[in-house]
Amino acid sequence: MPLIVQKFGGTSVGSIERIKNVANKIKRAVEEGNKVVVVSSAMAGETDRLLTLTRELSSKPDPREQDMVVSTGEQVAIGLISIALKEMGIDAVSLTGWQVPIYTDDAHTKARIKKIDTGRILSELDKGRVVIVAGFQGISDYGDITTLGRGGSDTTAVALAAALNADVCEIYTDVTGVFTADPRIVENAKKIPVISYEEMMEMASLGSKVMQIRSVEFAAKYGVKIHVKSSFIEEDGTWIVEENEEMEKVVVRGISHDLKESRITVVQVPDKPGIAAKLFKALGDRNIVVDMIVQNVSHEGYTDISFTVNKIDAEYAEEIAKEVAKEIGAKGVERNDRIAKISVVGLGMKTHAGTAGKMFEVLYREGINIYAISTSEIKISCLIDEKYAELAVRALHEAFIENTENIVTG
Ligand code: ASP
Ligand code: MG
Repeated sequence: MPLIVQKFGGTSVGSIERIKNVANKIKRAVEEGNKVVVVSSAMAGETDRLLTLTRELSSKPDPREQDMVVSTGEQVAIGLISIALKEMGIDAVSLTGWQVPIYTDDAHTKARIKKIDTGRILSELDKGRVVIVAGFQGISDYGDITTLGRGGSDTTAVALAAALNADVCEIYTDVTGVFTADPRIVENAKKIPVISYEEMMEMASLGSKVMQIRSVEFAAKYGVKIHVKSSFIEEDGTWIVEENEEMEKVVVRGISHDLKESRITVVQVPDKPGIAAKLFKALGDRNIVVDMIVQNVSHEGYTDISFTVNKIDAEYAEEIAKEVAKEIGAKGVERNDRIAKISVVGLGMKTHAGTAGKMFEVLYREGINIYAISTSEIKISCLIDEKYAELAVRALHEAFIENTENIVTG
């Protein structure tokens, strides 16, 4: 008997009507002869509401207590789904993270799953029940409730699929799949039928946030097949699977954009050994993740160093950079929050040359200046002015995706 894990996001369970719709989907999967494990997020808006409550009492709530509060959203959702199923004559049981149990480390508010004990789930499945598990939560070695970071239900679902050796992990969401670009910006954006883990990770980390990035890393590590699809529209979505040779024929799979970064420049830094080390060590020591780094060619013994960080960290990073700037005798620090990172992603870049040149050419033709460039084996990113983000995405989509040159045949 095939075993499937179905995960429903917040909007999919956003109202009683929608919970009934979800129960119908689950019922159908049962009637088709599957064993079904369901993972649910909290009802839409609920996690935000709970977080706001904690913030009304404290600007920095104790992380353990915050987890105690925000983990409750999922508990409500799984109970309701189970009740809906029973009303339809389907036997079901809801389980919180600690009832499973899903063991995590004790990094409250951003815990990582260490181990899942599948005994209880398997015995419930054997009794012919649908098992509905609360996403986003687990239990630490101390017996405390932990949460996995925003969007963590995706990771719960993929981790369960891996632990149970499920045939597929279906992620139901409010979009019909992963697109070649944001459909709100690019009219001709197309749904991608199949994408590799690696490409999806780049797309996710670059801002196409269909799934929590950690869940895709997890899937890649354990080879969990994922099918992202809509809870509202009946059609095939996007499969996220292991890469194969066929997939390398497409040079560029998608164009993504990210408006969540800020650029910080340390101006007129004395160009001598150890300076970059000092700056980035200071940032690292305070847990600030740096994305792109650019150091200009030096002039008369001075150079500029620019880097990007998440906007949330920008103010803090600027402060740290100012401290270091003073220490090393740099002229000053500048910060720009109005930037965008635009990327082209595709497995085929591993074997086909010329993508970078074409990308720069397209941006140049549109009169868009590039502030910084970074690359990986399957991705090229350019930092540009925020106001040109949509123009850049449209132009690149036209050049790389709508244009059939992209498909290498033979
Ligand atoms: N409810 C949690 C959140 O809003 C987890 C999730 O949705 O996956 O982040
Ligand atoms: Mg989500």
